[in-house]
This record gives sequence, structure tokens and C-alpha cells, in this order.
Amino acid sequence: MRNRTTVARALSYGSETLGAMSQTPPLRARAEIDLAALRANVRALRARAPRAALMAVVKSDAYGHGIVPCAKAALEAGATWLGTATPHEALTLRAAGIQARVMCWLWTPGGPWREAIEADLDMSVSGLWALREVTAAAREAGRPARIHLKCDTGLGRNGCQPADWPELVAAALAAEAEGTVEVTGLWSHLACADEPGHPSITAQLDLFRDLVAYAEKAGITPEVRHIANSPATLTLPETHFDLVRTGIAIYGVSPSPELGTPADFGLRPVMTLAASVALVKQVPAGHGVSYGHHYVTAEETTLGLVPLGYADGIPRHASGRGPVLVGGKWRRVAGRVAMDQFVVDLGPDGGAVAEGTEALLFGPGDRGEPTAEDWAQAAGTIAYEIVTRIGTRVPRVYLNEDSDE
Ligand SMILES: *Cc1c(COP(=O)(O)O)cnc(C)c1O
Repeated sequence: MRNRTTVARALSYGSETLGAMSQTPPLRARAEIDLAALRANVRALRARAPRAALMAVVKSDAYGHGIVPCAKAALEAGATWLGTATPHEALTLRAAGIQARVMCWLWTPGGPWREAIEADLDMSVSGLWALREVTAAAREAGRPARIHLKCDTGLGRNGCQPADWPELVAAALAAEAEGTVEVTGLWSHLACADEPGHPSITAQLDLFRDLVAYAEKAGITPEVRHIANSPATLTLPETHFDLVRTGIAIYGVSPSPELGTPADFGLRPVMTLAASVALVKQVPAGHGVSYGHHYVTAEETTLGLVPLGYADGIPRHASGRGPVLVGGKWRRVAGRVAMDQFVVDLGPDGGAVAEGTEALLFGPGDRGEPTAEDWAQAAGTIAYEIVTRIGTRVPRVYLNEDSDE
């Protein structure tokens, strides 16, 4: 198995901008991104939704994994669409030379509609204000905009209210007639796909089918109808329609621990977060540790300093709880997580840990390390938030960049 390692070249990580390197450099900390795992996850998801196209959702820097390398790996594994929240994220993909279909859905007045049209993006439209702006930009650009009309079937977030759908559909048809838009998609988003049997799922699906049927009867001919996110792709085949929008699952993280582990779905976590222990020292019993002295040593012991903190996305809410594999054992954060560092209690014998010993915060779990889900539980949040918030000061190190097909 190839295991070529390079540090991200195109992206800059604040003060730690790194050039290409041929092997793992000694780093304060690093997030290893296993692109072979990402490709295998995409293939596993395609097998679960064999009749639908797959959109790899790469918003928020690919959930913290790095947008451009992850987008390329997902396309190599058979994704045919990429999805982002903001147009800026979508334009980043184009600037990197990626030519696949790219859809972005979080628009605010002012666009940039014209840039998006010229970059051949697919754009979501949830209301008349957006349709007015996109048609004006299309007139200026001299070419039609590809749009996906979004209906709110019950999430209660973005999307057109069902009562306003006929008006939006009529306006979109008028814009198609004047040549300023092509309606390429009809879509919606589920509220409770990660809670099997939740009554909102069938209610949303019934309404989605009705709203799609209404638009098609009125004359809209969409290329894709789509509503499924990762949990729906994994567990609700009736939601797949023409396209599934998978985010968290392509990164090998389960949408919810109640639904199953990544392995239950044939997925493998893509990110491993590691740090190099910065200091090991003996302290007496009764020694307060970190701000506020919320941890006090029970006996003479050895402390290890892990050089990652809340500025790097280590949740302060995991103070006293977050798990780390150091010297072959799980340790817990002793006392508070600070901005740049936290401490673990290694016990009286120090557990054979020295400066430079690797501390594994989370990864796939094969080496006995915790997972992002363990950190989510320690911090009272979801694993989505754990991986997505790993800060820009932590360099991403890409493993297995070469396609393995
Ligand atoms: C983030 C997002 C997704 C992907 O959700 P996952 O649960 O990560 O698969 C899909 N659709 C929309 C509209 C989103 O905002």
C-alpha cells in the first residue's frame, strides 16, 4: 500500500505555511487526512445509493479536511457533483481547476451571482429576491444561470415555504422563457434523517413529492431532484431520488452514534489528529494543573504537555474529560484546555512518555486511539463539530494522494 505523505502545498495555514515535503516532518501537531479512506467511503456510499448520482459535500473546507484535495479524491472515486454552502467556497474549487458540477446553496443579497454564472456553478434559489438577483446577473452575463429551486418541506430553515412555491415556480418558468435561467434542480433538506422512524421523515417526503409534482406539471423539467443527506443516504433508500448529498459520511464519521458506528456502514474515519508531547515533568502531590486549578494531582506524578488548545479546535468543554492516547494508554485532559495547550497526567512512572512522544487525540481507532465521536461525547457535541473546527494552525498532511483504482 502506498503511503506517500505530503503536506498541503496550495493552502496556507496561518503562521505554519509549509512547502511540499516528502515525508512526515516533525510537527507540533498535524491532522493526517487519509485520501484512500475518503475514496473508499465515497465508493461505499455509491453502492448504497446505486441509482442516484453522488454529491460530495465539501463545505467548510471539507468539514475541516481540506477542500481541494478532498474534492479531487471524491471525484476520483465517482462523485459527479460537489456541494458547498457559500459561493465563495464553490469558486475556490473552480480556481483550483475543478470542472465537475458544483452547487452552492447559501446566498445573501449581492451575490456574487455574476461570478457564479461565469464559473458555471449551480445555484440554489429559495425565494423571489434571489431569483430577481440571479436573472439580473444572467442578463448582464449574457448567459443563463443554472438554478435549483429549494422548498422547505419541514426543516424550518432555508427554502421556500410551500404556500409560496407556486409563485416561485411561476417566476422561474417566466425566467426560463426569457432565457435567463435553467431550472436544473428541485430540492429540499431533511430535519430528522438521523432518527429512524421519526414522523417528520415521511411527512417531508410526501410534501417533497407533491411540490416536485406541482413544479413538473407546471412545466419545470429538472435534471435532478434531491433531498438526502448522509443519514438518509445510509438508512432511507426512499429518499435517494436522482442525487444524494453526502457530507459527514465521506469523511468516515457516523452522522449519529445511535445510527451506528462508521464500521457498521463500511466507512473509515479520514482524519487523525496527532501532536508531539512538548514537555514531560515530575510534580509533587497536591499540584494544581492549568487555569483555575480544576485538577490537582493526587500523588507525586508525571505531567505531559500536549501542544493543542481551543484555538486549534480542541473544545474547552472537554476540559477534564477529553481522551488522548499517549504511551499506549488513554489519558484524560487534566484540568482546563487552554488556547494552545493542555496537560495529561501520565501517572507516577510517566508511562515511558518523553518529549516528542506522539499523542493521538482521535483517528480511525485501529491503534487504540479515541475517535472524533469520543471527543464529541466528552464535549457534549456532535462529531461533525469536532472535525470541522480543527483550526487552520494545524497543518493538514495528506496520505495516499495517488488514486488507488
Ligand atoms: C451540510 C449539508 C448536507 C450534508 O449533510 P451531512 O449530514 O453532512 O451529509 C447536505 N445538504 C445540505 C443542504 C447541507 O447543508
